Amino acid sequence: NRKFHPLDSIIQVGQEHVKVGHGNFVMIAGPCSVESEEQIISVAKSVKASGATMLRGGAFKPRTSPYDFQGLKADGIELLLEAKRETGLPIVTEIMNANHLPLFEDVDVIQVGARNMQNFELLKELGKTQKPILIKRGLANTIKELLMSAEYIMASGNENIILCERGIRTFETATRNTLDLSAVTVLHELTHLPVIVDPSHATGVARYVKPMAMAAAACGADGLIIEVHNDPPRALCDGAQSLRPEQFEDVVKAVYAIRAAA
Ligand code: PEP
Ligand code: MN
Repeated sequence: NRKFHPLDSIIQVGQEHVKVGHGNFVMIAGPCSVESEEQIISVAKSVKASGATMLRGGAFKPRTSPYDFQGLKADGIELLLEAKRETGLPIVTEIMNANHLPLFEDVDVIQVGARNMQNFELLKELGKTQKPILIKRGLANTIKELLMSAEYIMASGNENIILCERGIRTFETATRNTLDLSAVTVLHELTHLPVIVDPSHATGVARYVKPMAMAAAACGADGLIIEVHNDPPRALCDGAQSLRPEQFEDVVKAVYAIRAAA
């Protein structure tokens, strides 16, 4: 709450000197899911070359259908760690069950997905660690509810939290979700925590990612998380919203141009 904590928080990520918040902008990129060694290493190298400061990749995937690819799980985390060793990029990956926490020991940022934003027992367990937590706004949750979920983590002792607006469910069907960019402004007013935007899950459409990424940078977001795949048509998850590496490079340039102008 700004009343008790007027200054912006700066979240320190890993040993890699990546900071998030208070003017420190983070560019997180990578595939929806880790699929193979070749895929994650290839994507990690290309997004790093384009200017990404952190690598994302799902190992435990919260899929709507139980028959869809559920992720490589522990093997996926091993492959992310290999990509981190190869590129030096800190890694962010989603946790779905607190019992898996030992697997996340060398993960730099633990993601709580939209579907688990109100999994309060999970939040309390994450609060007992000092790991940076990236918590995404739930599909149908208010800004206040997102803040209360962050409060659960903080009340258990961990203040290293990054908030993420990733679109909410509305009556509109042209996009996968409706990106609520005003949440960035409202959250900056209410809280000291950094706020990043996920234009990939917000729109669900690769060609809409660049304009929404630029808009997020223009309204003061502290970073972006963007899905990038080496072969989007063959992605096991979220191919339609995934950028090819060269498209991501174009987005990075556009976003940094906006930040430089602001
Ligand atoms: C993801 O980041 O891969 C993801 C599942 O996102 P969300 O929780 O926002 O749907
Ligand atoms: Mn995804």
